[in-house]
Amino acid sequence: MLKLYNTLTRKKEVFKPLKDKQVGMYTCGPTVYWYQHIGNLRSYIFADILKRVLIYNGYKVKHVMNVTDVGHLTSDADTGEDKIEKAAKKEKKSAWQIAEFYWKIFKEDFKKLNIIEPDIWCKATEHIREQIELIKKLEKKGYTYKTSDGIYFDTSKVKDYGKLAKLRIKDLKAGARVKIGEKKHKTDFALWKFSKPPGKRQQEWDSPWGIGFPGWHIECSAMSMKYLGEHFDIHTGGVDHIPVHHTNEIAQSEAATGKKFVNYWVHGAFLTFKGEKISKSKGGFCTISELEEKNFEPLAYRYFCLTAHYRSQLEFSFENLKNAQNAYRRLKNIISDIKDDKKINRKYLTEFEQAINNDLDMPSALAVLWRLVRDKEAKGKIQTIKKMEEVFDLNLLKKEKIKIPKEILELVKKREEARKETNFELSDKLREELRKKGWQVEDTKSGSKVKKIN
Ligand code: AMP
Ligand code: ZN
Repeated sequence: MLKLYNTLTRKKEVFKPLKDKQVGMYTCGPTVYWYQHIGNLRSYIFADILKRVLIYNGYKVKHVMNVTDVGHLTSDADTGEDKIEKAAKKEKKSAWQIAEFYWKIFKEDFKKLNIIEPDIWCKATEHIREQIELIKKLEKKGYTYKTSDGIYFDTSKVKDYGKLAKLRIKDLKAGARVKIGEKKHKTDFALWKFSKPPGKRQQEWDSPWGIGFPGWHIECSAMSMKYLGEHFDIHTGGVDHIPVHHTNEIAQSEAATGKKFVNYWVHGAFLTFKGEKISKSKGGFCTISELEEKNFEPLAYRYFCLTAHYRSQLEFSFENLKNAQNAYRRLKNIISDIKDDKKINRKYLTEFEQAINNDLDMPSALAVLWRLVRDKEAKGKIQTIKKMEEVFDLNLLKKEKIKIPKEILELVKKREEARKETNFELSDKLREELRKKGWQVEDTKSGSKVKKIN
């Protein structure tokens, strides 16, 4: 029995899919104007774990993820520049090149982090027609109004607007101190923005209301409903999406269809740096490639993410990551010495299953794994770890070929020669030098063997 915390009800609920063993899941994807930082990637590792836990429980998951390649403005309040257009100007490239470039890197990061790609990737720019259709539907039902800037959604027409974030509409009403321009209410949001003047933007399309581009929120409603139906099971994203993006997705989708949009809203907490959400201005902004340059393994970062519950903030520092990497390597090292007896250890596997099914409690699941590998009496370790790896996917059972640096090989050769000449003093000195560099030599009948010290 899988339990998930539903932001909509603020409760842990037993997960029940709409259709027997099939699950429709939508994840808000990246805005591809820059590299995704390790904070963004924490969100996708969480979604990956959720998907794997569903699959582990025998569900067939249809996973859809969007690529925001237009319409996400520098301010979530429908003002400022389009992030992609801004990057294109700065990098002197076309908006399409920018989107393609950063999306490609994002997918490479997925591979490095063992994140399963969604079944469907959908780009906003390839679904303009669906977005226009949805806006037309809303217009017909009287939910929209026009300003000189675009077509807006009138949130006052929705009785339960803000139910996801438990927003108090009274507090949000346009007051004297809040500048809202031509918008009727502070919470109203753009469905379609006009190009001013047409031709100024690289990305713009014709529409019944004039040349322009879609708002960010309408893209996720249009594409999720296209691929998963008007009512589907799970929607994920980071907690920052609760008050605006997901609140607006719900409002416009339910207004258009008259149905409940999504059953379970599942949100991942932030990766923080010095207690604050990671951002370019506040620091901690780091990519997976930058971690690799600093000799961190991407999978050590995955391990690090699993040491915290997805609904708890996780504090990033190189020291914290280093500790996680050391633990991860120690774990792999212990596992590499275990012999496979082809059995499964039911006791430990049951404990693992209880942990993952309890709202994805991965820190407890990792603790079960550690207890298993340290239990001298336990049988069935390898096959049990193999099952657990369906969720962890930390390459725990993968034998890796370790590349021995040339400098180390030369020292080993020198030492062999010293031994041949019975110069044991020099041979011991070289052994010590190798140890200091992190390598251990063993003398076997077939010659010297060198092993990395973990
Ligand atoms: P964006 O590309 O800005 O739309 O963000 C992509 C995803 O990363 C969204 O689901 C965000 O909620 C999430 N996100 C952004 N910053 C962080 C952070 N510091 N920690 C965890 N998730 C984040
Ligand atoms: Zn979205």
